[in-house]
Amino acid sequence: FKINAKIKDRSYPIYIGNDNLDILSKLIDKSPIIIVVDEKVFKLHKNKLTNLKKLIKNKVEIIELTADEQTKSLKKAEELYHVAAKNNMTRSSWFLAIGGGVIGDLTGMVASTYMRGTNLIHIPTTLLAQVDSSIGGKVAVNYEGYKNLIGSFYQPNAVIADIDFLETLPKRELVSGLAEVIKYGILCDRELFYFIKDQLLLENQWNFKKLVKKSCEIKTNIVAKDEFDKGTRMLLNLGHTFAHALEGVTEYRYFKHGEAVMWGLVLSANLSYNLGILAEKELIEIKNLLNSIDLPKIPQYVKDKNLLFSHLLHDKKKNGNKLTVILPEKIGECRIYQCSLDEVLKVLLE
Ligand code: NAD
Ligand code: ZN
Repeated sequence: FKINAKIKDRSYPIYIGNDNLDILSKLIDKSPIIIVVDEKVFKLHKNKLTNLKKLIKNKVEIIELTADEQTKSLKKAEELYHVAAKNNMTRSSWFLAIGGGVIGDLTGMVASTYMRGTNLIHIPTTLLAQVDSSIGGKVAVNYEGYKNLIGSFYQPNAVIADIDFLETLPKRELVSGLAEVIKYGILCDRELFYFIKDQLLLENQWNFKKLVKKSCEIKTNIVAKDEFDKGTRMLLNLGHTFAHALEGVTEYRYFKHGEAVMWGLVLSANLSYNLGILAEKELIEIKNLLNSIDLPKIPQYVKDKNLLFSHLLHDKKKNGNKLTVILPEKIGECRIYQCSLDEVLKVLLE
């Protein structure tokens, strides 16, 4: 598949397929390349990456990094700037990010700032990166304990999603990516929601191509309307007010992001039901779907009013005594609401 992500008068292609990295040779010119790759991916998919290197005749520097949140730092960014400068990279040079969201966000951040912007291609290797983080142009590093505090918007030249990478993904990472796909379903695609429900029964026969394609279409459509996250794009935060609170209270150590989002989806549905917006039947459908997924339970210590309160206030979508939250009106339709902090807290405490 090829999807064209349109942003105002520009557009870039997203390729989705099996073993499709050879497209790369058609996308790049002869300029030098820095490949930033997740060391785990490098080991697990050595053949793929050796072939890739054979394919391109450019001068190539490969940098292997550990994919953890410490890697998304100014310090690592500086190391990449150093390699770029040492290799006399110019703004027509290329950065290739091969890995999950950590590698993509960091490499994107460097590509967006080195000489005010170089060429960038994302080759996402986690489900989360293929359906979410490689699309939409948000790039960032963490700073002083705050996630994504320093960042920018920078659209890549292209994204190549090679579904075969997902074969080696651990179950928890798969579930984590799936959460964002379920999010898209609840947000605006009822058919996708039920498709995932059917897929969950088949366990090891995921139709990733369809999941990734649908997700990319949905996300690029929303981003096209609001590149810089000033309005419509907020819809993509469905479940995330809750998820960020859960992640914050557990200091980002207990839940994978997607697991917190999965809980966040249930909690937003609960809140919406409490407020008389979502019908009980729809709430049950959402709960049933998420019950069929192995999720870490919410630890008892999280249910602390003050702790949750302070983390909800950290959420940037606050507006006086009210929080801006996205609520499902039914599966496939959501809207932005202003909700009292008490209502939000109540759902979390229950
Ligand atoms: P990640 O990059 O940390 O990858 C998760 C784990 O999977 C790592 O251990 C990694 O080594 C491993 N891995 C990667 N590819 C693999 C493969 N093919 N086989 C086996 N293991 C593999 O995490 P992620 O979940 O991809 O991304 C999370 C990051 O993305 C967070 O930092 C988050 O802030 C960011 N994010 C950004 C956006 C955005 O719009 N830019 C959106 C959502 C999330
Ligand atoms: Zn998310």
